[in-house]
Amino acid sequence: MANDINRFQAIIAHCKEYGFIFPSSEIYDGLSAVYDYGQYGSELKKNIRDYWWKSMTQLHENIVGIDAAIFMHPTTWKASGHVDNFSDPMIDNRDSKKRYRVDHLIEGYADELKSKGQAEEADALLTRMDQLLAADDFAGLKELILANHIKCAVSGTDNWTDIRQFNLMFSTQMGSTGGEEANEIYLRPETAQGIFVNFLNVQKSGRMKIPFGIAQIGKAFRNEIVARQFIFRMREFEQMEMQFFIRPGTQKEWYEYWKQERMNWHLSLGIPASRYRFHDHTKLAFYADAACDIEYDFPIGFKEVEGIHSRTDHDLGSHQRFSKKKIAYFDNEINQSYTPYVVETSIGLDRTVLMVLSEAYEEEDLSTAEKKDSRVVLRFPPRLAPIKLAVFPLLKKDGLPEIARQVMDECKPHFRCFYEEKDAIGKRYRRMDAIGTPFCITIDHQTKEDNTVTIRHRDTMLQERIPLSEVRAVVEKGIL
Ligand code: ATP
Repeated sequence: MANDINRFQAIIAHCKEYGFIFPSSEIYDGLSAVYDYGQYGSELKKNIRDYWWKSMTQLHENIVGIDAAIFMHPTTWKASGHVDNFSDPMIDNRDSKKRYRVDHLIEGYADELKSKGQAEEADALLTRMDQLLAADDFAGLKELILANHIKCAVSGTDNWTDIRQFNLMFSTQMGSTGGEEANEIYLRPETAQGIFVNFLNVQKSGRMKIPFGIAQIGKAFRNEIVARQFIFRMREFEQMEMQFFIRPGTQKEWYEYWKQERMNWHLSLGIPASRYRFHDHTKLAFYADAACDIEYDFPIGFKEVEGIHSRTDHDLGSHQRFSKKKIAYFDNEINQSYTPYVVETSIGLDRTVLMVLSEAYEEEDLSTAEKKDSRVVLRFPPRLAPIKLAVFPLLKKDGLPEIARQVMDECKPHFRCFYEEKDAIGKRYRRMDAIGTPFCITIDHQTKEDNTVTIRHRDTMLQERIPLSEVRAVVEKGIL
C-alpha cells in the first residue's frame, strides 16, 4: 500500500480513541515527537517486547540478555563516534523559524518534482545532494537549495540561514553543580554501547564461548529534527538490540544467518513476505563490512524497521583504545586471542508496534442489502493482542454475572481478560474488535441449564457454543 495518508491518520486517531497511544503531556498541548502508551498500547508493546526477548534469549542458547543503565560514562560516546559524528546538517527558515534536516528538505522538493513528471530533474538533484553531503560541503548544499528556489512550507520563503551540524544526542548534567564541562553526560542514543562496554563482564561471568550474543531492550533518545511521523520517529523510543560476537573471518556467514533469522521472526508475526523487503546499504560506514535494513510497507511507504549490520571489531577495538583496557577473547579452539567481530540486529520497539498496528487495522464493510454496517477491527496475532478474552454476562441479573466472575477467576491468572456487563452484546463485541481481542464469551440463560457458553471469534465473527469448562483451554490454544 503506497503512501496512504488517510489510513495513517485513521490509525493515529484510533490509537488515541481506544487507549493505545496518546501524545505526551497532552493537557499542555503535547511534546513534539514524544508519546505515551495507554492501557492497551502498553500491553501490546509489552507483548511484542516479550516475544522478541523470548525469541532472542530463550530460543537461542548462546544469547543472554542484559539491562544496562541509560546514563553511561561520557567517554563511551567519544569512543562510539557519537560525539563527533552523530549529527545531521540542518537549516532554519528565518521567517517561520522552522528547522529542517537538509536532506529531508531537498528530498521533499525532489518528490514534488517527481509528482509533476520531472523525474530526471529530481534524480539529478538527489545525486548532486548526495555528492555534497558526502563532501560535507554545506555552502554547496545551501547554494543548491537557493538555486532550486526550495521554499519553507510554512512561510513560503527561501530566507534560509546557513547550514549547521546538529548533534542528535540529548545531554544533561550529572551531580549537583551544573555548568562544568566534565559533568556533562548524555542520554544514550542507542542501547548497543551498553552491550559493548559489558562484553568482558558478560563473557567472563557467563563463561560464554564465541560465537555468542548479548541482547538488550531499553530506551534510547535522539533529538530528531524532523519528527512528525507519529511513533515512527520519536525523540524518546525503545530499541531491541542484539550484538553477536564472532571469530574474525566468519562475519559473512553470520551476517547472512542473522538476515534470514530476523526475516523469519518478522514473518512469524503473521505478516506476509510481500509486505517486507531488504534494503542493502551501498554506502557503508568506513568500519562496516555489510549492512541492510528490513523495511515494512507502512501506510507512509516502505520504511526501515530493523537494521542488520556487520560491524567488524570497530566497537570493541575503539573501546579498547579509549579505555586503555584490553578487550580480547582467547579462542581455545584455535589457540588464539583476538578482538571479536560483531554482527548486530537492531530493531525499534515503537516502530514494530506501529508495524503491527498498521498490519492489523482494518475498516471492514459489513453492509447487507437491508442494512449499512461496518466495524473497525484490529487483527492482531492473538499472542500479541492486549486482551485475550472478554467475558460478558448477557444480563446483569439472574445469576449470570456470578458465573462470568467464576470464568474470570479461572482464566485471569493465565492470560489477560476483560469483564464487562454494560450495553448490548453487539456493542460490546465491537468494542473488543476495536482493540483486537481475539475471543469473547457470553454467558446466558442456557449456560445455567447446560454449562455451555457462546464463544465469538474476532476475525470471522463466528459464534459457537462450547462447554464452560473448556474456555480456558480453547483460549490458551488460540493464543500460542
Ligand atoms: P532512521 O534512518 O530511520 O533514522 P537509523 O538508521 O538511524 O533510523 P538505527 O540507528 O539503525 O536507525 O537504529 C535501529 C532502529 O531503531 C531503527 O531501525 C528503528 O527501528 C529504531 N529507531 C531509530 N531511530 C528512531 C526514532 N527516532 N524513533 C523510533 N525508532 C527509531
